[in-house]
Amino acid sequence: MGDRNQGKLTTQVLSDHIAAAKIIQRGGVVAFPTETVFGLGADATNPTAVARIFSAKGRPGDNPLIVHIADAGQLPSVAMDITDSALALLDAFSPGPLTVVLPKHANICAEATGGLESVGVRIPKHPLAAAFLQATELPIAAPSANLSGRPSPTTWQAVVEDLEGRIDAVLRGEPTQIGLESTVVDCTTDSPTLLRTGAISLSQLQQVVPSTRASVDNGSRSGTEHLRRSPGTRHPHYQPTAEVDLVDRVSTVPSAAPDAAYIGFAPLPDGNWMWHEVFDSLEDFARGYYEALREADRRHARRIVVELARGDSPIVDALRDRQRRSAGHQP
Ligand code: AMP
Ligand code: MG
Repeated sequence: MGDRNQGKLTTQVLSDHIAAAKIIQRGGVVAFPTETVFGLGADATNPTAVARIFSAKGRPGDNPLIVHIADAGQLPSVAMDITDSALALLDAFSPGPLTVVLPKHANICAEATGGLESVGVRIPKHPLAAAFLQATELPIAAPSANLSGRPSPTTWQAVVEDLEGRIDAVLRGEPTQIGLESTVVDCTTDSPTLLRTGAISLSQLQQVVPSTRASVDNGSRSGTEHLRRSPGTRHPHYQPTAEVDLVDRVSTVPSAAPDAAYIGFAPLPDGNWMWHEVFDSLEDFARGYYEALREADRRHARRIVVELARGDSPIVDALRDRQRRSAGHQP
């Protein structure tokens, strides 16, 4: 796919989702916007196409990809044994930032699920994503469209920054609305298990399926069990080149330094910061966090001081999780 020029692809920036879908149908890899972050898509039934996602990102082969479909009618062609709880959660939160893990259908290649017998399935709400998926007439395997380990891309320019020359095309769209990856829920057992927080919180899931439980932090499930269920969580994620220091409150911020950037909530702590970004709400912080990390890197900050999220928006747990992991902490 694409024009080969000394082993590099020419990455096209497209506005036409039909043209983007045709590249997918020919076995290509195309980045596309969703309401969470930009995804890097390929035909989930084609092992060669899926392998190109892993090599473009430098992603470990055991980290499963989420399979994206245009509507619930495609569900029986990608997953099997769809539980009542999965149906209830999908009914409540799909299309939207929810991924349900179900037993895998044979249509989905083993490469897409990192060899797991289960598959994560999501129906995005973003109109351009929905139109693109519909036009491919295929299930689309898509992780976030960044180099493995880096902050996820929330703009098409950030996709180009990481993957220019490594992918066939990026479908251009506005900066993403939510800015954090989907909530992932394992629905292969009777009681759903939350594997990754996102814009949909544990308590919102429990309002629909009361038996939904957290994976690690309730003491009933070991970290080893969590890794077995969601192997991708062991790899580093969301990390800029600069070192990230988390602080609890503006009052605990160490003194500013000319090589340090600050990302937090208003007001800005005193000092002579190299660069800063302050947000007024948890939602704005979630939307802008990855781009702020990338901007600090573009400015060659050596250190980024990040104020930890607190408060009671549904997004607070997801934001704290991404903040911790961008600082190199394990979940
Ligand atoms: P990314 O799209 O880059 O955020 O990566 C997708 C993430 O979804 C993986 O790292 C897993 O945490 C989760 N995931 C996808 N498929 C499965 C699955 N079959 N079982 C458990 N977790 C999954
Ligand atoms: Mg990712």
